[in-house]
Amino acid sequence: MTIWGKIMTLTQETLLGKSVDELTTWVKRQGQPAYRGKQLHQWLYQKGVRSLTEISVFPKALREELKDYPIGRSNIYHCTIAPDKTRKYLLSLADGLIIETVGIPTSKRLTVCVSSQVGCPMNCDFCATGKGGYERNLSCAEIVDQVLTVQEDFQQRVSHVVFMGMGEPLLNTKEVVKAVKILNQDVGIGQRSLTISTVGVPKKILEFAHHKLQVTFAVSLHAANQTLREKLIPSAKYYPLPKLLSDCRKYVEITGRRVTFEYILLGGINDLPEQSIQLTKCLKGFQSHVNLIPYNPIEEADYQRPDAESINVFKSILEGQNIAVSVRYSRGLEANAACGQLRAMSTAKE
Ligand code: SAH
Repeated sequence: MTIWGKIMTLTQETLLGKSVDELTTWVKRQGQPAYRGKQLHQWLYQKGVRSLTEISVFPKALREELKDYPIGRSNIYHCTIAPDKTRKYLLSLADGLIIETVGIPTSKRLTVCVSSQVGCPMNCDFCATGKGGYERNLSCAEIVDQVLTVQEDFQQRVSHVVFMGMGEPLLNTKEVVKAVKILNQDVGIGQRSLTISTVGVPKKILEFAHHKLQVTFAVSLHAANQTLREKLIPSAKYYPLPKLLSDCRKYVEITGRRVTFEYILLGGINDLPEQSIQLTKCLKGFQSHVNLIPYNPIEEADYQRPDAESINVFKSILEGQNIAVSVRYSRGLEANAACGQLRAMSTAKE
């Protein structure tokens, strides 16, 4: 191991996550001319190199000197491909922890569903991630790496990123905001093609709003009354529905962007016509869009996916009140890669 290998194990500093200016400062510290900073930036974020030895525009001696320098890339521990071509990756991080990332190809798009934490502390009753516990936040480099990994594996540019993998993004706002900026400015994905999904964390929605990002902002509502919402989402106890909704209204005022509300449909639990009517009342006059997500089965919970008829009735009640609504049929169901099916698989490699 060179000197770099040793130093970096101690500090955990990585090149991925640094801006072009920071990279320029770094190359100058290695005794290199400033223009090598731009080169490094291009090879890290555009070509997606995994080691500095791959940067062929760098002199051989420099590549040799930096060969152990950790740039911040994970390793693919396992990949499952579903019949619909969705790929679920288990990625191993520098400290050995495993996260899940999903690559979802459609005819024109390649979407990556990224994790923002290892596990999740929110413990929503219908979601597999929370059942596996919580380890730690991810760094912005670990978030950006997931996108570069999918891009490399598909040999195709990623067009969209959704923060809907493991974890609650607003418990990790600082690194998530940094990752959004890097994905936008350094990797080149439009902010409007990035979606942050949150179950709602007190004070954090407004804190996030003040960053004035142009991303798509989605809130996991799942119930239009407090009692049911608390049953499904334990953390809802600390964030009453009227307060959550008023923070969402402020989000719209501050950012000028509408809010998407996600609503998982659990057969016989929250998919009844009267619950759709309740939802229309919650959202009346709101600049919003509702995304209905039929429940994806997980082992640890006993919920049912609703039938097509009840989904249609629920949807048409919202449409009748001029609320923009769509149904999201998750991809990757067969590979346990759909919404809510991601878990820390360190013990369960498929
Ligand atoms: N913590 C964030 C993001 C991760 S979950 C959030 O809660 O929004 C991404 C979306 O998948 C959320 O809307 C979540 O409620 C939904 N989801 C979780 N479990 C699901 C399941 N079993 N079936 C369908 N959607 C699920």
